Amino acid sequence: MEAISKSLSLFDFQQLFPDDESCLKYLSDKKWKDGYSCHRCHKKKYCRSVKKYDRRCTACGYIESPKANTLFHHMKFSLQKAFYIVYLVSTNKRGIASTELSRKLGLRQKTCWLFKHKVMQAMASRKKYSLSNEVEVMTCELGVNRIVKDGIKIEKKKLAVLAHEKKSKGRGKTYGHKVDNLSAKELNVILNDHVDKSAHIKTNGWHGFAALQNKYPGLKTVICKKGKRPVVMTYRISCGLLHWIRGIHGHAELLQYYLDEYFFRLNRCDMEDGLFLHLLDRMIKHEPRTYYDIVNFTPKALFIDYS
Ligand SMILES: [Zn+2]
Repeated sequence: MEAISKSLSLFDFQQLFPDDESCLKYLSDKKWKDGYSCHRCHKKKYCRSVKKYDRRCTACGYIESPKANTLFHHMKFSLQKAFYIVYLVSTNKRGIASTELSRKLGLRQKTCWLFKHKVMQAMASRKKYSLSNEVEVMTCELGVNRIVKDGIKIEKKKLAVLAHEKKSKGRGKTYGHKVDNLSAKELNVILNDHVDKSAHIKTNGWHGFAALQNKYPGLKTVICKKGKRPVVMTYRISCGLLHWIRGIHGHAELLQYYLDEYFFRLNRCDMEDGLFLHLLDRMIKHEPRTYYDIVNFTPKALFIDYS
């Protein structure tokens, strides 16, 4: 049985989005809720175009559909099916594999894979929240990448750093960042992006953290005693993450996207007011992505302000 959000049941979803037109109207209402601005010349005046919900700039004649310049850009299948994928990805506690989406929706697995990865782009942290007070940081290994080069098999570990905020009441947030190696320069990225400088940071025994003590005075590297783990909560989270990656993705090829997806849901597991609509909103504000962008990690995530 699928775990679904408290706020929006499957029945509610079907009532809210019974067909493609209701989805297109929703995109139009949300995209231009603060007013229209031409994507090409930034003028504010528009008139209706041939297709319902399209807007035509009166200054330059540019016609823009509600899907254009969002993560729904150049989508080749039914918009209602796309909304259903967003619904399933956001409300299934453990996410959903592209093979399962393909079976449920009657779409090609590659089509589902690409659109699911577009959804995952909108799950990346916007770096608005800094972890503070008690923070645990640890390095972990999340799979192995096997490459054959000149007939020789090379195995490269997929490494990540996790940062978790400890709270006496309720659940603290956690973020994950893929790293190429465990040098201080790589480890610094997650601290810089997600941890407040005044936080008391406890790390596992990795010596690479010691070089960051000048920048983060509250950083403490705890040496592991036999049979004891210095960062218990983060260790438990890393075990859940590893189990999830093996179960859903089967490998750790595009690791940063998997980390973004996992922690997007984990950090919002108590969200009462609709994770699905929140994710749709993020997709509307996100710039378009192609297959090339996704597999090459380019360009950097960017949110568009339509107001
Ligand atoms: Zn224009």
